[in-house]
Amino acid sequence: MTTAFAYAPPPGRVIFGDGALGRVPEAAAELGIRRALVVTTRSGAVVGRRALASLGQQGAALFDAAAMHTPVEVTERAMALVRERAIDGVIAIGGGSAIGLAKALALRTDMPQIAVPTTYAGSEMTPILGQTEGGVKTTQRTAKVQPEVVIYDPELTFGLPQAVGVTSGFNAIAHGVEALYAREPNPILTLVSEEGVRAMAAALPRIVAAPDDREARGEAMSGAWLCGWALAGGGTALHHKLCHVLGGAFDLPHAELHTIILPHALAYNAPAVPDTMARLRRALGTNADPALALQALSQKLGAPKSLAEIGMPADGIDRALDLAFEAPYWNPRPLERDGLKGLLQRAYAGAPPQP
Ligand code: NAD
Repeated sequence: MTTAFAYAPPPGRVIFGDGALGRVPEAAAELGIRRALVVTTRSGAVVGRRALASLGQQGAALFDAAAMHTPVEVTERAMALVRERAIDGVIAIGGGSAIGLAKALALRTDMPQIAVPTTYAGSEMTPILGQTEGGVKTTQRTAKVQPEVVIYDPELTFGLPQAVGVTSGFNAIAHGVEALYAREPNPILTLVSEEGVRAMAAALPRIVAAPDDREARGEAMSGAWLCGWALAGGGTALHHKLCHVLGGAFDLPHAELHTIILPHALAYNAPAVPDTMARLRRALGTNADPALALQALSQKLGAPKSLAEIGMPADGIDRALDLAFEAPYWNPRPLERDGLKGLLQRAYAGAPPQP
């Protein structure tokens, strides 16, 4: 039975395909942008310069200092350039860091945005912005930061280091998994989430085996789109809460953290979400426990397995638990301290996930 729901799908226009980066000028013209700022991280500057050159008169400047977790001081430096060069539109090319900066600029100016994602993190589909100031990250949801146009060009992922691609793919899968057991599910969200997880889980091993496999890169990017859609419409639960808490408290890398925690958070929730587990078995093409299957997949693809490996301090578990119970997110299974402690101990040690 379908339960009652209210749903607003992500509103932006999506352009998808190999070489789609070349459509940035057309998208900018349609949005009425006359003086565009291109934003990237340092390693994205080469592609950023290419896009800026393609804009001709419409391209005003490149800002290539976007950083993880959208530090406010970086945004302020970019804002100075926005004022100085009379910027009227922003084009982010990169992962969640570049896209986060463009969102932060849109929040302050209301200017239109084009997002060209080069990882699978999914920020381009969401009205969510996390910003960091004085070591504290705060997240808000506002339509002001939703990119107007998203351009997916799978060719751009050829430069993505294998390890980043794999963990970023698990970041996407985590969005799809938590949307499958969303508090207020609806038929579109469920379809999109299952297909997003399927596409990403199928594509990642093919990319690792044959990095020049174009078709697999297209499938991964389409999975990233669907999982980003799932994140925008599905809300988040225990898994995302733990990642936010651990990332913030111990400065752990975002995508690796998602990869390690997901099997454990899913195993914790499994008894409360039999329909999600059935859908995940189908999406992952397995009769095994999906939590174990996800951990096995991440290991086969060479991702880190334990929080210890990525630098979490051994005595951090109790602090993480305290933080997880501060302003907890809705979760399909009630949060129990002993259960969560076991979860974090297993994630710390890289042990198999358990309910
Ligand atoms: P990232 O943007 O920091 O990219 C990771 C690294 O890969 C960077 O060094 C980057 O320069 C490099 N890189 C990216 N694309 C590349 C490519 N194609 N070729 C070569 N190098 C490339 O990491 P991310 O995981 O994409 O994003 C993480 C950030 O995004 C975090 O701050 C997270 O909080 C945020 N995020 C936000 C949302 C949201 O909805 N607001 C969703 C997901 C993630």
